[in-house]
Amino acid sequence: MNFDSPEGEICAACGNSVARGSAVFANRVPESNDIVTRIEMGRKYPHGEWICIICDNMNSDGEIESLEEVLLNINVANYFLKNQIAILGRKCL
Ligand SMILES: [Zn+2]
Repeated sequence: MNFDSPEGEICAACGNSVARGSAVFANRVPESNDIVTRIEMGRKYPHGEWICIICDNMNSDGEIESLEEVLLNINVANYFLKNQIAILGRKCL
């Protein structure tokens, strides 16, 4: 498995992509536990090297603790992503 590929950049808890270009790229948190610990913790995707902002804000009951903060962070990341795409688009012209 190639962990450098964008496909390898997933959330260890939910399996969603946190690769560059995804809305949760800027807010991802490194999963600092080793793979054995991740399995013991019940991570469904223990080969994932990251935790996405949604899972990072989830309590042990599976509820998002601060939905407003999660949505704000994703919206800010989306804004910067769109700006970056617009800048790249202008450079290509
Ligand atoms: Zn996640």
